[in-house]
Order: sequence, then structure tokens, then C-alpha cells
Amino acid sequence: MPQPQITAKRIAEFIAPFRVKPGSRVNLARDFDPAFQSRRASKEQAKEILARGVEMLAEYQARLAAQDTWGVVLVLQAMDAAGKDGTIRHVMSGVNPQGVEVRSFKAPSSEELDHDYLWRYQRRLPERGHIGIFNRSHYEEVLVVRVHPQILAGQKLPARTRGRGIWLRRFREINDWEHYLSDQGYRFVKIFLNLSREEQRRRFLSRIDEPEKNWKFSANDARERAYWDDYQKAFSDVLTHTSTEWAPWYVIPADYKPFARVAAAGVLAEALIGIDPRYPRVSKEARDALQTAKADLEGQAPKGQPANPIEAEREAKQAKAARKASKADRKRDKATRRAAERRAATADEITAGAEPAASGSTAAG
Ligand code: ATP
Ligand code: MG
Repeated sequence: MPQPQITAKRIAEFIAPFRVKPGSRVNLARDFDPAFQSRRASKEQAKEILARGVEMLAEYQARLAAQDTWGVVLVLQAMDAAGKDGTIRHVMSGVNPQGVEVRSFKAPSSEELDHDYLWRYQRRLPERGHIGIFNRSHYEEVLVVRVHPQILAGQKLPARTRGRGIWLRRFREINDWEHYLSDQGYRFVKIFLNLSREEQRRRFLSRIDEPEKNWKFSANDARERAYWDDYQKAFSDVLTHTSTEWAPWYVIPADYKPFARVAAAGVLAEALIGIDPRYPRVSKEARDALQTAKADLEGQAPKGQPANPIEAEREAKQAKAARKASKADRKRDKATRRAAERRAATADEITAGAEPAASGSTAAG
């Protein structure tokens, strides 16, 4: 099992530089480097850290489900080709699929447009004990909708609330919604995968050049890229106004995929460590009932079978381990004895050989 005490501190230190301090003013280009990667972590190390992180996530997820109090919402936002899908795949590779729900949000349906803008996100929240991954999220309502005014025009809003001040109002509404949900037992983990314009160009080209990647590229991706600067501004504003104490944003450098995946796993792990879900304690009555059931089951052992095969296996294993340990002890003792004997023999030889020399030197003196 992982060592939460040690790991928690390391993880906290590792992800701290990516946290957007609530209340701070963010300028993406100035404040965050998409190409950052820890110089200390090689590709192999990144893989190993990710593997350990994934193990830890699995353990915490099991406890989260058993406790059944908190739901986690992992929000992933990014420009196209930043690696949302790969991040989801890697980060969740070790967890029980029954406890994870991935929700992808695309352009809203007509049914969704017939409701308030948060409706569809509220409906897809994970249940308590689960991790819900929002592959794009309610933040599209202040990103793509802001960058393309015609989308807002299609949202059937009353004239009074369509005009000035709408974005600041949406930021407040989103903060309030997340705050309300955090009081209800939802923990928002918000990650922005920060890709550089040049790395996006490179990844688009590789999607076009490599036939097996063609399906990943759509003409719409290229169209959205033309709005790069508008998106950067919109993202900066989102980070400035919606990083809160109860739901802070993390800006993860995304140009280097292995690093992005480790960092994303770290952010999620830290949130789970913060929740610190525990297996429920079983009551005295329930424990007594377990003992009664145990005695009953032990009484049902067929002839020739141990009353409790689990205990029998455990005892056999312990006996085997003890035998192995004592064999190792004997081997070590023997080796120590042999070494002592060798040392003694060498000392005898030296003393024997040294006598003439010693008398010689006396003669010379
Ligand atoms: P991938 O390309 O890897 O499949 P994706 O998340 O980019 O993943 P797409 O189907 O390419 O999926 O894109 C979904 C599109 O839907 C994005 O351009 C996104 O901005 C848009 N979208 C999401 N939410 C809204 C919204 N509320 N209103 C309008 N458009 C939205
Ligand atoms: Mg896309």
C-alpha cells in the first residue's frame, strides 16, 4: 500500500506551482509556460511516478466509493490536441471502471438549449463515491460561447440578461454553483491543459500526415485555431475569476505529454488525499454478527477440510516465511563464521611470515 504521509507532501510540492491562486490576475502567456517540464524527471521516471500515482488513485477511489459521501468532478479544459483523451486514459488506467464516469460535452442539443445553461452539467454530475470526468465542461459556457457570439445568440436568453456584464455574471454563477455543490459533498478538480500554439500546429500536422491519426483531425479544429488569441484571453479571464478556495484551477504544462499526465494525476491525487476517504467503521453489533456467521461457516466444513481454509492458508504462508527466514539466518551465520575463520587463518599466515622479517629488522637495527 502507498505511504500517504510521504507521498502527500511530495505531491503537494510538485503541483503547487500550477495552482492558480484565488483572486490573482492571470495572463496565460506571461504566467504559465506550456513547455515547462521538470528537469529532474526523465521519461522513465515520469512513467514510474505515473504508475505509482495511478496505484494510489485506485486505492483512494476504492475508499471514496466505500465511504459514499464525496463525489469528485475532474474538469478538463484545453485547446484541441492538448491531450485530454490521453490524460483521461492514463490517469484512470488503474481505477475500477465502475467508480468512474466520463462525460463529454459538445455543442448542446435542442433539449439542452431549452433549459438554463447549467442544466446539462448538473444532470451529469457523478453520484457520491464516484469520480466524474468532465471532458469539456460548464466552462465552455464562458469559453466557446464567449469567443463565438452567435452561440450565445442561440441560447434563448431573455434580452435583459444577454447584454453587458454577462461574463462576470456567469463567472459568479459558476462559482456559486460549485460552492453550493462543494457544500453538498462534491469536490471540483479543475485542470487546464496548457498547450502552446506551435505544439498544436505540430500535433495537427502529425494527425494529417499519419493516416491512422486522420480520424482525430477535423476541419473544425483548424477553424477554432484561427481564434487562438481570443481563446487565450477567454481562458486567462476564466482562470482569473473562477479559481476559488473551494475549486481552484490548475494550469498544467501540456507540450510534453508524459509530464502533463503525471501532473494531472498529481492534482487528482492531492484532491483525494485532501478528502481522505475512509472505509466505514463497522459497528460492534455488526462485528458480533460477523463472528456468529464465521462460527456457523466454520461448522459447515466438509470432512477432511480445515474449518477455516483462509486461516489455514495464512498460517501455512507464515510458517513458510518463517522457514525461509531461518534458512537465511543459518546461511548468514555460516557465512559470518567462514569469514571469521578466513580472517583468523590469514592473520596466522601473516604472523608466521612476519617473524623472520621482524628478527631481520631487529638484526638490521
Ligand atoms: P475530440 O476532438 O478529441 O473528440 P473534443 O472535445 O474536441 O474532443 P469535438 O466533438 O471535436 O470534441 O468538439 C466538441 C465541440 O463542442 C468543441 O468545439 C466545443 O467547444 C463545443 N462545445 C462544447 N460545449 C459547447 C457549448 N456549450 N456550446 C457550444 N459549443 C460547445
Ligand atoms: Mg475536437
